[in-house]
Amino acid sequence: MDTNKDRHIPFNWPNMTGKELHYIAEAHFNGRLAGDGPFTKRCHTWLETRTQCAKALLTHSCTAALEMAALLLDIEPGDEVIMPSYTFVSTANAFVLRGAVPVFVDVRDDTLNIDEQLIESAITPRTRAIVPVHYAGVACEMDTIMAIAARHGLKVVEDAAQGVMATYKGRALGSIGDLGAYSFHETKNVISGEGGSLLVNDPQLTPRAEIIREKGTDRSRFFRGEVDKYTWQEVGSSFLPGELMAAFLWAQFEEADKITQQRIVSWNRYHALLESFEAKGVLRRPIVPSECQHNAHMYYVLLSPEVNRQAVLDDFRRNDIASVFHYVPLHSSPAGQKYGRAQGDLSVTDSVSERLVRLPLWVGLTEAQQDKVANTLSRSLKLNE
Ligand SMILES: *Cc1c(COP(=O)(O)O)cnc(C)c1O
Repeated sequence: MDTNKDRHIPFNWPNMTGKELHYIAEAHFNGRLAGDGPFTKRCHTWLETRTQCAKALLTHSCTAALEMAALLLDIEPGDEVIMPSYTFVSTANAFVLRGAVPVFVDVRDDTLNIDEQLIESAITPRTRAIVPVHYAGVACEMDTIMAIAARHGLKVVEDAAQGVMATYKGRALGSIGDLGAYSFHETKNVISGEGGSLLVNDPQLTPRAEIIREKGTDRSRFFRGEVDKYTWQEVGSSFLPGELMAAFLWAQFEEADKITQQRIVSWNRYHALLESFEAKGVLRRPIVPSECQHNAHMYYVLLSPEVNRQAVLDDFRRNDIASVFHYVPLHSSPAGQKYGRAQGDLSVTDSVSERLVRLPLWVGLTEAQQDKVANTLSRSLKLNE
């Protein structure tokens, strides 16, 4: 493999622990390749122990886990689901697939998470659920969101795609709402290429979650010997990954603490390197509220409005540094306009999406590489002139 990481600094580099192929070989020799074998069970137990959720179920992506959540909550055509516009498309797609209308609410200008103060004004008689997205692994203001949901009889689905190993007031992200969804996509912290998990926190939802994940059948109960044959029970699909993916993921779970710790070291180093940039007013660094323990999923900077972001991105590219920006706000995307509704003017979302730059962050990123990123940014922003 030609990594070429010395000259070129990639934006992301999938981290392997070294045990992945060993466990895949073990699954291969076990002769058990379909889902819900021994490695899947180990992963479920690990997730349940770590997050204290009632039931964890591996899926083939976070997208799939969100689609399961929409099915589980019986989301129907015309139902409304409140979510930020500043998020990945899967947050909205999962509910639009059931015919629901995503109602986009603006984000807070500190954490870039859904502004909990704006949620109540978006509630109508058709509202069924709130979907907080824990951006960059920094928790949304969950106590407030859960209180609003309780007052209005709404369900809460946490899009914790970026939140594996992060906590809010000591509780794992994804374990606070009725349901939570994790991603193990290659671009996240703990990975299996594609992969995800649904966290079921309301134990009453567990039996149906198992049915929906197994093509709408009670096959899970059949395998446990609770029924003598399995049949079609309700609408479902095939949401479970095969054992090879679970075997890969198990190797990552074993090292999840180490992976998180290493990322946090790099995150903290960027934060120290860029302190003087913030003091000069050219950018602002991420803000993490004290009740949130983040997982260093992402290091971003918000450039000041007078800075030309494209020029900064061009300077990075000329220096062989891969940096990216996101998101095109969902409320201004073609599908968002067709299927969704914006609540208010979403001015923070629009502003952030034009000013945010994500810096390379992965396990193995060296101090020299981080220095190069900071120096390139300094030259681009003409801080020494
Ligand atoms: C990555 C991501 C997803 C999708 O995860 P997949 O596992 O790729 O389906 C959903 N929501 C957010 C906020 C994400 O960052």
